[in-house]
Amino acid sequence: MKRFDYDVVVVGGGPAGLVTSMYISEKGFSVAVLERDKEIGVPVLCGEGISKKVDDLGIIDRGRWIENEVVGARIFSPNGTTVKLSAEHAGGETGYIIDREIFDKELARLSAKKGTDIFLRCNAKQGIFENGKLVGVKADLGGEEVEFFAKVIVGADGVESRVGRWVGIDTRLKPKDIVSCFEYTLSGIECNREYSDFYVGKSLAPGGYIWIFPKSDDVANVGIGVLGSYSKPGLAKELLDRFIESKEELRKGKAIRVLTGAVPVAKPIESLRDNVILVGDAARHTDPLTGGGIMHALIGGRIAGETIAESLESNDVSILKKYEERWKEKLEKKLKRNYMMKEIASTFDDKTFDMLADSVKDINFDEFSTYGLIKALVTKHPSLLIKLKPLLGLR
Ligand SMILES: Cc1cc2nc3c(=O)[nH]c(=O)nc-3n(C[C@H](O)[C@H](O)[C@H](O)COP(=O)(O)OP(=O)(O)OC[C@H]3O[C@@H](n4cnc5c(N)ncnc54)[C@H](O)[C@@H]3O)c2cc1C
Repeated sequence: MKRFDYDVVVVGGGPAGLVTSMYISEKGFSVAVLERDKEIGVPVLCGEGISKKVDDLGIIDRGRWIENEVVGARIFSPNGTTVKLSAEHAGGETGYIIDREIFDKELARLSAKKGTDIFLRCNAKQGIFENGKLVGVKADLGGEEVEFFAKVIVGADGVESRVGRWVGIDTRLKPKDIVSCFEYTLSGIECNREYSDFYVGKSLAPGGYIWIFPKSDDVANVGIGVLGSYSKPGLAKELLDRFIESKEELRKGKAIRVLTGAVPVAKPIESLRDNVILVGDAARHTDPLTGGGIMHALIGGRIAGETIAESLESNDVSILKKYEERWKEKLEKKLKRNYMMKEIASTFDDKTFDMLADSVKDINFDEFSTYGLIKALVTKHPSLLIKLKPLLGLR
């Protein structure tokens, strides 16, 4: 059987794996990225929204991957009440609408330039263990069985991650911690290219929302996410079709792409076991409230890459512990808060969404504070306070 030896093997050629590999290769260590698909970035499984804060990360320069820039988000409650947020306040998915295929390929190009070897049509099938330690990966490389050996193994293999399971990490997702998505790219519609639109409501998208991310004046990604605990086969498509049919500006659109996929909306899991590290969706770093995961995959990937390089430089595997400390410092607070928000919001009925939207629609989010929110709720809909107590830190 053919054998490859590397310092690091990364399973998964999405944003998390590509950025991890980039920062290890940069320090001169050998890295293999194993990607089961035949092309990086294809198929696209994404709404393609990302915060403009991606520019501040210093990982990828502005380029052809940006298709549209929005000024903010509009959130519509079931009765049509609209809350407007500037891109800055709207979270990790609002700012740019991107071409995910070009975006991922650009990350791959940057990583390859630093020296990463990318193996396409390479499906990681099984861990190779020596004395109870994961030392490599058995893979199907274009129909041939091969083995990759490495000092550090990275699981960047997305929502279905297997690498974690190989070393005994519990990667199972409860139905309430996974969202089923269905999305069309619709052309020939009328949309406002200045805003990403979000429609919430239990009857519209139980436990999730419908999004319209405009690529131009007449093309947008129109998708839906439904929480697993409310979902059944075919429901996401059925609800999205119903929504599109109800909107004159969308009804006439023609689908030029259809996709389905799942997003973890769970709490982060253990992301380090000995010499094995999980990043991105595999580590459940997706924002549990919005389902956005690209930014966190980039942030976590960079931390993982830099920490692994540090550990290899000192030949000290215990340095890998810093990965957990470092990603927690950057992401944990937000992930925990948004998990709680998701848990609460998934119980809201349509009336509660309407009351909430009515309470906050006039808030200037530039001057947003917990106090401002409480004041708005007490004034308009005091009954909401009881539902939102845990979020506001009230007993
Ligand atoms: C419908 C939908 C819409 C979304 N919209 C947005 C959005 O608008 N904005 C946003 O920020 N996030 C969005 N997300 C989430 C976002 O796409 C993910 O969070 C992000 O891709 C995570 O990056 P990753 O590298 O961790 O995983 P992925 O991008 O999933 O990459 C994992 C890679 O691993 C490969 N792989 C898996 N198993 C193996 C194996 N055994 N061997 C080899 N390769 C393997 C896969 O082929 C894949 O290429 C959306 C997700 C879905 C499903």
